[in-house]
Amino acid sequence: MKNWSGTVTFADSQTFAPVTTAELAEIVATNAKVRARGSAHCFNAMADTDAISVTFENLPHDLVTNKEKQTATVSAGVKYGELAVALEERGWALHNMASLPHISVAGALATATHGSGVGNGNLATAVRSLELILPDGSLKKVSKGDEDFEGHVVGLGLTGIATRIELAVEPTYSISQTVYRAMSRETYAANLDEIMSLAYSVSYFTTWAAAGGGEVWAKFRSGSVAPSALFEAYPATSNRHPLPGLNPEPCTEQMAVSGPWHLRLPHFKMEFTPSAGDEIQSEFFVDRKDAPAAIAALEKIAPQINEILWVTEIRAIAADDLWMSPHYQRDCIGIHFTWKKVDAVYEFVKVVEAVLAPFNYRPHMGKVYSASPEYIRSVMPKMSEFVRLVKEIDPQNKFGNAMTDNLIGRQISNL
Ligand SMILES: Cc1cc2nc3c(=O)[nH]c(=O)nc-3n(C[C@H](O)[C@H](O)[C@H](O)COP(=O)(O)OP(=O)(O)OC[C@H]3O[C@@H](n4cnc5c(N)ncnc54)[C@H](O)[C@@H]3O)c2cc1C
Repeated sequence: MKNWSGTVTFADSQTFAPVTTAELAEIVATNAKVRARGSAHCFNAMADTDAISVTFENLPHDLVTNKEKQTATVSAGVKYGELAVALEERGWALHNMASLPHISVAGALATATHGSGVGNGNLATAVRSLELILPDGSLKKVSKGDEDFEGHVVGLGLTGIATRIELAVEPTYSISQTVYRAMSRETYAANLDEIMSLAYSVSYFTTWAAAGGGEVWAKFRSGSVAPSALFEAYPATSNRHPLPGLNPEPCTEQMAVSGPWHLRLPHFKMEFTPSAGDEIQSEFFVDRKDAPAAIAALEKIAPQINEILWVTEIRAIAADDLWMSPHYQRDCIGIHFTWKKVDAVYEFVKVVEAVLAPFNYRPHMGKVYSASPEYIRSVMPKMSEFVRLVKEIDPQNKFGNAMTDNLIGRQISNL
């Protein structure tokens, strides 16, 4: 089996898809190494293992909403797209979604998956409690307010195997999406704060070509009005795909047509292949105040970027308190690269990282990066506490894989 992009071949010795939580707990209790896998959308080896993997598609997918607490408790393996439909039917909504609805809730939270919006934290900031299976097969519930809660949520698969997750919800709302065409990177970078604050969720798509502008995808909540122009950019007169030249059919409704949140916040519809399909992704987060300078620094390598790029997307993510979130206590701008599926990407990310290092960038843990564990530790202030927590939860390193062992310095398994 491979990951979604086909770039990682999983080395599982066996894969189990349990049908009950008790069966899942038994698998965990009776095997020395077990790794949870969601919908396998990570672009790196985060979901890989050379031992036993467990998947969640056969576990019952139920949903319990709590009107007083304004929460919904969901099964870990449910896909955001399925959850969103069920929530909308009951009159509820999530605060945000990623660019695609195809990913599992637990897998997305484990890597701090995010959408956009200066006031929107990543998807993991909606977590109110987690039900986790521990290495001995026992069940533990961790709730917001409990000690170390913020360490468990973005867990990289190391803080227990999530079975059920309680998420904050709010009454359903509508979004209308307007795409503004022909905005130069110069104008964008010079007015970044104003542009990113234009709507509830804003993305800027651009290549790094010298000529031609990028596009601002603005998702307005009901009540706010899309301006008729945005600096030099003008509203598109037909639907757009974020990747230049592609058919917009897989994309969610645009042209300022208002509709339910879950059919506008992701860029892509559930029933289509998202993005290019044939691609690799990387993303690096910098402090929002540093973003114009970071973009200016990247201009110096623009021609090389363009040689292997489909498109760059720039998004805003609000600061949070989750230990392994790249948005930890930092209002961020995410500079994302949808690369062509070529080997050169793995060397070239080092060049991008060198350019962004003066800005203390933090990498997206589910995408391709090359930063050393030492570097990551230097920019993630809670990393040592996370390592302490993981060792307490899982002293025998049952849940780790080669990538996480390297990241958190557990090269030698105690087994
Ligand atoms: C086309 C495309 C578009 C994307 N767009 C975005 C985007 O808009 N924003 C963004 O931030 N990211 C984006 N991503 C990246 C993606 O959201 C992350 O890689 C995410 O982690 C994938 O979730 P998954 O369910 O596929 O998890 P997997 O890749 O299967 O696993 C990821 C991690 O979750 C852990 N995990 C899975 N299930 C459990 C569980 N039950 N308990 C504990 N740990 C578990 C795994 O062990 C692993 O560490 C995109 C990816 C693709 C392919």
